[in-house]
Formats: sequence, structure tokens, C-alpha cells
Amino acid sequence: MTFPSASAHIAGIGAGQASSTVEAMNEQRVFALVTRFLAILLLIPAWLRSPGRARRLACGWALSLRFPAEDLSGLSAGTLAAFTAARTEAFWRHRTLIGLTSGHRDAAEQHRLFLAEVAKTGSEQAARRRVLPAKDSVHVRGIALDIRPREGAQWLEDNGSRFALYRTYDNEWWHFEYRPGETPPARLPHPGWLVTGTARAISPLNAFFHGLSTVTCGARAARKSAASNASPAETTPLAFTRPSSTRSTASTTSGAVTA
Ligand SMILES: [Zn+2]
Repeated sequence: MTFPSASAHIAGIGAGQASSTVEAMNEQRVFALVTRFLAILLLIPAWLRSPGRARRLACGWALSLRFPAEDLSGLSAGTLAAFTAARTEAFWRHRTLIGLTSGHRDAAEQHRLFLAEVAKTGSEQAARRRVLPAKDSVHVRGIALDIRPREGAQWLEDNGSRFALYRTYDNEWWHFEYRPGETPPARLPHPGWLVTGTARAISPLNAFFHGLSTVTCGARAARKSAASNASPAETTPLAFTRPSSTRSTASTTSGAVTA
């Protein structure tokens, strides 16, 4: 379901862009308030079901109503635990909603997405800037999370390290990976920059200049990224609507499937 104001937001053209953006922001605030209200109501049945996990359960139930198309199945146990803990804290401590646009994908779906991106961009190399082949995609391994909305992704970018959840690409503000027990991964320009398990390796010189660029131009790049890399996931509002029976297809057609 797409609301009229959201459609205008997607189009992002003309004099009405600013007002549409404001309307979309107001919608998000209203939905956040309603979700929080529902979560508070759900604390009672959650406490009756599991007193020690009431806040987590109530949060999960409320978010499942706010983002009815999300699917947490197939995520690794660690990824699921980290994601649940992170968004529970975001929800109750900072009133920030975090939803999942796309998590685990099987190899066949990932292969189909990659072929579609190749057809769209004209080459495998170009396709890798947005979608990786199944053998390289961590979505297939169940440790990648495409997050929505933008505010939720920003919260996770700021706080995710405590949960071993990291944003890993400059051109995908929505894509996070569960990387426990290791130093924070370097953020790469795009998914195709470094392909795990292939001969291409990031050179120390490239790593140095990329790191330097990130430090000196981080804020500017973030603003540019926000302006130029809006995720289709962000522009596909889901709010207390009936669950989509074509979740995967919807993600595919909207382009909200990455890496
Ligand atoms: Zn992704």
C-alpha cells in the first residue's frame, strides 16, 4: 500500500517535494506514536506470557504491526538476537522504530536479483555496486539486514557496534551486517569494492585513501548519500496495513534488495 503523500515523496520532483517530505515525516511521527502506544498496551499480555521479557515481546509485537511485511526467518541465531536486542533498546530508550526490509534470502532469490541487476546495469561489474551474486552475498548467510526507515538505520549506525551490527557500505545506508568477535569492519564504497573469496583484494594504498576520505569527508558524504541514495525501502511506507503476500516480489520490484 502506498499513500498519496508517499507517492509524491517517491517521485521527489516539482515544487511539492518539500511539502510531501514534510507530510511523510509527519506520517512517520504519527505511526511511531501509535506503535509506541500499542507497545505500552501490549506490555500487559507480554508480562503475563513472559515477565522477564515483557518489554522485548511487546516491542516485537508492536513493530510487527508497524512493519507487517518484514520477515525475520532465516537470520542466523546471533543476527536475530542482536537485531532484536538493538531495536528493543532503540524503541524503549530512544523512541526510534527499526524495521527490516530484507534479511535472509535463499541462493535462488539472490541469483535472480543479481541477474536482474545485471540486465538493468549492463554488466556484472556494474551490478555488483548494488547486488552481489549468491556466493558472495551475506544475505544468503543470514547475517545481513536491510533496515528501515532512515531514522532507524541512523540509530543502528550510531549504536549498532554494541550489538556487533555494522553498516558496511557507503552507498547503502540501509545495509547492516552482524560481525561479532572481530574488529569493526571497514566501510567500503559499495558491495562490489571487495568481493570475499575472490582474487580481488583491497590494497593497503586504497584502504588508506578510502579511510582518509571517510574521515575528512564523512559528513559531506553522508549528506550526499542521503540525497542521492535514498533506499526504495524508505519510500515504501508500510503502516498498519495488511501483510503483503508478495513480500519478496515487492522488495525486488522496489529495488530494496541490496548486496
Ligand atoms: Zn543488504
